[in-house]
Formats: sequence, C-alpha cells, structure tokens
Amino acid sequence: MPAWIHSDPNADDGHWRGHADDARPRPRWAPVNLDTLCAGSCMNSYRRKVRSYEHATTTYQTDYATWQADTAAWHAPLAWPAEPEQPEQPRLPYPILGDPVYCSDCVYAYKSKLSKLDGAACVYLRDADGFRGQSDQAKVSGKGNEPASLSPTIDDLDELDGWLRDWKASYLGAETMARQGSLADSITLGTSWLVARVERILAHADMAQAFGDEVNRWYGRLVRYDPSDITVERLKGARCPECKGLTLERKTGDDKVTCGRRTCERVLKWSEYQELAEEVLKARKAS
Ligand SMILES: [Zn+2]
Ligand SMILES: [Zn+2]
Repeated sequence: MPAWIHSDPNADDGHWRGHADDARPRPRWAPVNLDTLCAGSCMNSYRRKVRSYEHATTTYQTDYATWQADTAAWHAPLAWPAEPEQPEQPRLPYPILGDPVYCSDCVYAYKSKLSKLDGAACVYLRDADGFRGQSDQAKVSGKGNEPASLSPTIDDLDELDGWLRDWKASYLGAETMARQGSLADSITLGTSWLVARVERILAHADMAQAFGDEVNRWYGRLVRYDPSDITVERLKGARCPECKGLTLERKTGDDKVTCGRRTCERVLKWSEYQELAEEVLKARKAS
C-alpha cells in the first residue's frame, strides 16, 4: 500500500481510506424521499438524477472493495491497480412535492390534456371521414359497394370511449355502463364527466398515478388531431445555446424546441431546454 494511503480517519488530508461506503469525505447527499415528490413529469429529472447517482454509488462501492482487495494483494512486478472513480453528485432541481400525489401544475396539465381529448377525437373522426371517398375509388377488390372501412379510427375512438366509461365506473365503484348515444356523443359526455372530477381522481392514492399516465398516453395518441395544439410558445426561461438569443420556441406539447432566429434554427430536446432553464433559475437564485 503506498504510504499516502492510511487508515487514520482523523488525519483529514483526503487520503484516508476507510470502509468502501465512506471511502472519502463528501458533501451531504440528502435528496428528498422520492415517494413524496410530485409523481408528474415536473420531477422526472429529479428522480432520474437521484436513481442514476445511487446506482453509480452502489457500483462504485463494489468496485472500491475490489480495488482494496487488489491493493492488499498487490506485489512487485504487477502494476498498481487503478482506483475506481467516485461518481459525481448531481445537482438536483428544487424538489416539488406531491399534494398528495401531483403538484398543482401537473394536475392542471392533466386536466388540460383530458379536456382536449374530446376535440381531438372529433377532428380525428372528421379527417377519417374525409378519406372515405378517396379510398372508395381506389378499391379494386371486395364486394364492390360497401363503403371503405373507417375501422382503424372507429377502433381507436371506441377504445377511447371504453377507457372513459371504465374510469367513470372505477370512480363510482360500479360496473362499466353501456354506451349511451353515438360514439362521438359518448366521448363528449365521458370527457366532460371526468374533467369535472379530475382533481379528485388525481388526489386519489389508488387511482391518481394510473389515471395520469393514461391521460398522457391518450393525449399522445391524439395530439396531432388537437385543434388547439397549434400555438407556439415563446420560451423565455433560457437563451439559445447557439446564438444566445432569447429566441427559443416550441409548439405546445412538442418534444423539440427550436430557435426562432432564421440564421440559427438550432434544435434541442424539450428536456434539454428544461435543464437549461433550471440552470438559469438556479443561477438567478444564487446571485
Ligand atoms: Zn408536478
Ligand atoms: Zn439560436
């Protein structure tokens, strides 16, 4: 063992090597209990950073123990074993707690997505209807007169309607009721019924997470039919990493952010933008 490594913890010279789990003095690592965080996307980066750091730490501890054993068994012409590198502690975003499951921003986001499903379903149905004439003419086989099937669309919307009715039933603790009226009417009714109760569902320990995830999934499936989804948000939280302009923008719900300056047009991921904005916010708080 080289002389600079010793086992006296009181000699605070940074060379102390104790047990693998306290191998080196380091700043206190005190993330909040992940179960208390808002379960929504606002805390995804917090969760991801904590989990990957904790995973890296476990790996490091194992590697460190192996390294200690290797150095203890070290003898001359062997090369001194390379010391494993301690993972760097990530900088965590400010924790936002669930109230009780989601924060109010995330509840609002789910509510808004849920309420848009109806309009998106209408546009989806209308678009599919518009295609019917074309595909009729293109048809070469079959019995001849039957209209081209709307079935992929109908199947999707049927599934949406079933999903809405199932959630209504779960909320009421009842059996799923049969559809009333047309498919389009049933979807309108189903969405507005759930929108009126969304805060309660999203505060319900047993339903909140599943409901939130499924609203996201449905919105993702129908977002391109959402008539309200053409607005471009101008993002003022961070500057373009390329041209440094306050010129970033994205289409609502889009996963990518683009620089609005024609000579730049830098594209970044929404998550990358969020990280940038977080850094700016932190820098502002610190100054
Ligand atoms: Zn949240
Ligand atoms: Zn730019």
